[in-house]
Amino acid sequence: MHTCPRCDSKKAETVSKSPVEGAWEAYQCQHCFFTWRSSEPDTITNPEKYNPSFKIDPAEVETAVQVPAVPKRKN
Ligand SMILES: [Zn+2]
Repeated sequence: MHTCPRCDSKKAETVSKSPVEGAWEAYQCQHCFFTWRSSEPDTITNPEKYNPSFKIDPAEVETAVQVPAVPKRKN
């Protein structure tokens, strides 16, 4: 288990690994569904360095049901 950089829950699981062993792993938070790769900069991978503006409160995940609509194609 890993700590989610976005919601700080400890529910992130390894969901994929690089074809070349040891190059990277991909993780997904089972609470807020944030997904990241171990090879990304520490501003993404480290919960303490993740941009505070983009942090979310884990308690609010269940009430965040609004998903923005995909706009119509222009052509
Ligand atoms: Zn999360």
